[in-house]
Amino acid sequence: MKTYKIAVIAGDGIGPEVTGSAVSVLKRAGEVEGFGLEFTECDAGGCAIDKYGIPLPESTLLTCKASDAVLLGAVGGPKWDSVEPSKRPERALLGLRSGLGLYSNLRPALMFKELSSASPLKNVDSIDLLIVRELTGGIYFGRHGRSDSSELLSDGSVKGLTAFDTEEYSTAEITRILKEGFRYAMGRNKKLTVVDKANVLETSRLWREIAESLKPSYPEVQVDYLYVDNCSMQLINRPSTFDVIVTSNMFGDILSDEAGMITGSIGMLPSASLGAPGTPGMYEPVHGSAPDIAGTGKANPLAAILSASMLLRWSLGETEASDRIEKAVRDTLADGFRTSDIKSSDEDKIVDTDGMTQEVIRRL
Ligand code: NAD
Repeated sequence: MKTYKIAVIAGDGIGPEVTGSAVSVLKRAGEVEGFGLEFTECDAGGCAIDKYGIPLPESTLLTCKASDAVLLGAVGGPKWDSVEPSKRPERALLGLRSGLGLYSNLRPALMFKELSSASPLKNVDSIDLLIVRELTGGIYFGRHGRSDSSELLSDGSVKGLTAFDTEEYSTAEITRILKEGFRYAMGRNKKLTVVDKANVLETSRLWREIAESLKPSYPEVQVDYLYVDNCSMQLINRPSTFDVIVTSNMFGDILSDEAGMITGSIGMLPSASLGAPGTPGMYEPVHGSAPDIAGTGKANPLAAILSASMLLRWSLGETEASDRIEKAVRDTLADGFRTSDIKSSDEDKIVDTDGMTQEVIRRL
């Protein structure tokens, strides 16, 4: 029997609760589909700071590198808010992304029809789009710093401190992520929207030039361009018309939260971070560690469970097991089971984290 190695980073807050659910679902899916899974637990985030004084121990990165895929819960929380910036729990995420070479972040925004009343939008019956976000370049990783000046300005004030963050993208980085966008569009409805700010940003103009040069290699894909401000409006106005959106690190960060929210709850949204073929991908819910509900049993485990489904599809190639989990989630929702964040009617059967997990497992 084929056995896969999965590194599990449960993290902080509700991380261990929802990752526990995802692991139980993965185990059952493996039993049903006939493959084995070997889980290795590792520390990262606040719990690693408490144990080792750093957010990402070398041993965690080594275990992840030696695995077929990584399943992550969430890191961070108020306990570590006063830790100096270079040692904060969230630094573990950056370390994992760069250490594993994860340059492409996939965030599907899928509205389950059973949850349409939980969407803040009216009269939207289907949303099924995929945001492909560049993950290791752009303004988050560009040169940044501060300079001080005692220059006197015309109004008599002193200029003082200036802070700067630079957006930089190379042809190689842009080409790599745009090709991912085209590839995913080919596997879906063959529509690709490149989102940028080409009216003002030089980096965006380079993105457009490279997208134009790649178009002939994907003649079936219909490409259009949207400025990010317009895209944020159109996601509200006509979300059903999008298929694949490809964009830079910061624009993708912001738009994917918006796209996620219009589908219902943040507790439903999975994500994958992928690198070159053959390297382990990392799968995690989009939400954070939700310290306000940690330990109460209120956490919705479906984002973590759907992340596990993505792990099976994109890193292990176990598409049938992945489909089986998605169907079990749909069936569970269709049968009226809801955690409190997605409750929309008095007829809903309210369950806690464990209850939702068991209902999904029962339907596998
Ligand atoms: P959050 O996503 O943790 O919580 C936002 C709101 O959504 C809260 O009200 C929370 O209760 C709710 N929520 C989140 N997940 C839920 C779920 N599965 N079920 C039901 N409700 C859910 O965002 P935040 O409060 O801004 O951040 C809390 C901590 O998480 C911070 O330390 C932040 O830095 C960290 N964080 C980590 C990640 C990550 O690990 N990838 C991502 C985002 C935030």
